[in-house]
Amino acid sequence: MPGMNSSTTVPLQLPCPHCGATNRLPVARIDEAPVCGRCGQPLLAGQPLDLDDSNFDSVVAATQLPVLVDFWAAWCGPCQAMAPAFKQAGQQLAGKALLVKVNSDDSPRLAARFGIRSIPTLVKLQAGQEVQRQSGALPVAGIVRFMQG
Ligand SMILES: [Zn+2]
Repeated sequence: MPGMNSSTTVPLQLPCPHCGATNRLPVARIDEAPVCGRCGQPLLAGQPLDLDDSNFDSVVAATQLPVLVDFWAAWCGPCQAMAPAFKQAGQQLAGKALLVKVNSDDSPRLAARFGIRSIPTLVKLQAGQEVQRQSGALPVAGIVRFMQG
């Protein structure tokens, strides 16, 4: 894309959930059901994306889907407990929502911008704007309902 500044075109590094190969995916192709360059299997298919201060905005700007952000941290027990549910919810919402995980310790600018005071906090974005949030862990069905509500 001509005229785009290089900081917005840094490709995402995506580990393939099937073979483990690291794929470089241009952010602009996030909605195109990308497949692994090595094994040809879907790279996302509802798999939550790990984003941080450096790439969050470009991904949110690139996707047409509503985005569900899980603010978490490694030391947070309820966050760890919710991680498998978040992953399963991602599979159920594949093609309908983009699920994103942000480590609030590693991404202080995002945590500050969203005013994250407790984790886990789920934030739902539509067209880049926050429309709803939920603090505290949810089960799979609760996450799916929150996203569809
Ligand atoms: Zn692969």
